[in-house]
Amino acid sequence: MGSIPVAPATKRFSISFLFCYNKTMRRYHPAILYTEIIVWGVLLFTILGMLFAADIVAGAEISDKRGDFCARVDTDAPVLTLVGDNSINLTLGAEFVDPGVEVADYCDVEQKVDGEVNSAATGEYKITYTATDERGNIASVERVISVHPEYRGTIYLTFDDGPGVYTSALLDILKKYNVKATFFVTGVGDDDLILREYQEGHTVGLHTWSHDYAYIYQNLDTYFADLARIQERVKNITGEESHIIRFPGGSSNTVSARYDGGTRIMSALANEVEKRGYTYFDWNISSGDAGGANSSDAVYYNVVERLVDGGSSVILQHDIKGFSVDAVEGIIKYGLDHGFVFERLTKDSFTAHHGINN
Ligand code: ZN
Repeated sequence: MGSIPVAPATKRFSISFLFCYNKTMRRYHPAILYTEIIVWGVLLFTILGMLFAADIVAGAEISDKRGDFCARVDTDAPVLTLVGDNSINLTLGAEFVDPGVEVADYCDVEQKVDGEVNSAATGEYKITYTATDERGNIASVERVISVHPEYRGTIYLTFDDGPGVYTSALLDILKKYNVKATFFVTGVGDDDLILREYQEGHTVGLHTWSHDYAYIYQNLDTYFADLARIQERVKNITGEESHIIRFPGGSSNTVSARYDGGTRIMSALANEVEKRGYTYFDWNISSGDAGGANSSDAVYYNVVERLVDGGSSVILQHDIKGFSVDAVEGIIKYGLDHGFVFERLTKDSFTAHHGINN
């Protein structure tokens, strides 16, 4: 029996990329293949594992430093920035969508929003946004949301012939609603009331000292002598001259014709007062409180039913009449609820001039 020649292993299995491959049989040597796969697998896991571990350690160190900084060192408050305007006007009934804030801080921040907007009721609402970081540094910003009806016009409340015993109560009402008005004062009443009118931001206008038609409408001299007297009173009280005037009876009055000897005094006065730097104001809505209306309700309806839509309403009332003063709060509420704004008369206001008759 001859011996069977055994081919050397190197010839039966060639090395092909580390895996043993039998070219003749065209297959891998199974034991070696599996071993190779296991060895390479373990090696790969080990390398990846080491890489991950290194990363986690590095990350933990950063996190530790950050945590330490945020908890004990950080003195910078978060930076809070309003998204959108710091004051927002909202029409009554419209939905309020809060544009929110942007917060920037290195450390973790806790955010809080205080305040609510009731768009079903007119008014001013404040929203406060607060951000507190881990060390307790606080930042806050505010936003004001004004809920109002759409603009319907401007109301100028004007009160003639005072001050009087009802003026103080009237000033309280105006203050309650932060409404500014105009007072055409005369020689009557307490100086303190005129001072209060002035100090509380109302316009103190001149109505003549005596309000005596027979005297003031005789001629230019008598009118201006009387006007100088009320001017002096106002200046003594407020420290300022007033150049806002109203003629007793208005520029359209015809009573003056009884006393002017046919000189057309109102035409002359309208020219002359402007030349002397005054602006005279009439009215386009009479409350009727000087005749016709004798109750608060009558005054109220005379005013609110005649308000000029989209324009200026200069309203004539008298603060020497209690029932007229009693109607003011209702008029203000109606105006505010219906989109009107209240302003005092100034030199640039709507003058509501009447047609002059003589
Ligand atoms: Zn008057």
